[in-house]
Amino acid sequence: MKPIQQKFIAENVASIQEEIEAAAQKTGRRGRDICLIAVTKYVDVDLTQMVLESGCRHLGESRPQQLWEKASALSSQEPNWHMIGHLQRNKVRRTLPSLSCIHSIDSLRLLASLDEECRRQGKEIEGLLEVNVSGDVSKTGMTEDDAKLLLDRRSEYPQVKLTGVMGMASRSGSLSTAQQEFSSLREIRDRLQSHGGADVKLDELSMGMSHDFAQAIAEGATMVRIGSRLFQGLARP
Ligand SMILES: *Cc1c(COP(=O)(O)O)cnc(C)c1O
Repeated sequence: MKPIQQKFIAENVASIQEEIEAAAQKTGRRGRDICLIAVTKYVDVDLTQMVLESGCRHLGESRPQQLWEKASALSSQEPNWHMIGHLQRNKVRRTLPSLSCIHSIDSLRLLASLDEECRRQGKEIEGLLEVNVSGDVSKTGMTEDDAKLLLDRRSEYPQVKLTGVMGMASRSGSLSTAQQEFSSLREIRDRLQSHGGADVKLDELSMGMSHDFAQAIAEGATMVRIGSRLFQGLARP
């Protein structure tokens, strides 16, 4: 079983990387300037390991418990873990040790908890502000105004390095709607950058998933979060 699964995943990773490269070149960038975050939330530890062996060093999970389990099982390989889903404050302590970046900072209270726990653990972390661009009630993320308020207070929380924004296109929309939403997210990022001033650098734009990452790259994505495409052709375990 294992070799065939590994082959599928490696082929999927290669074709995703080619598409990233092609989309990047259209905007005068290089594929290697765009970070592929392999979202492993659908699969178990064994398949996650195969994703790592296919060369993906950045892994994303949206549920803390799954991240803990996989981070512990795969710790010897030192992947870079990205938290991409809502993180409750009571899960911050356990999640932080394995985390290199959290994409889902959606409140000042979460930022404060992250900073406090980073101090306790003697570490710094990269963080993105999650903004709701689609207006879907089901989608998480802050309004632009809330993100500005949070930026105003960032110096109180220096262990969390705010490096950009994250967002998702609406689920029901077409690809052209998605592209407009990604464009709005980039504009929001630009306004937050002006608001924050020179001592903050919101360079990262985490946007685009399996079906819409080309549109996201066209609008300036620097990180794409891709899950289901990695496992295309495989039976779900
Ligand atoms: C699941 C998930 C993804 C990946 O979605 P796919 O459509 O499977 O690529 C990306 N971002 C977030 C926040 C997710 O929860």
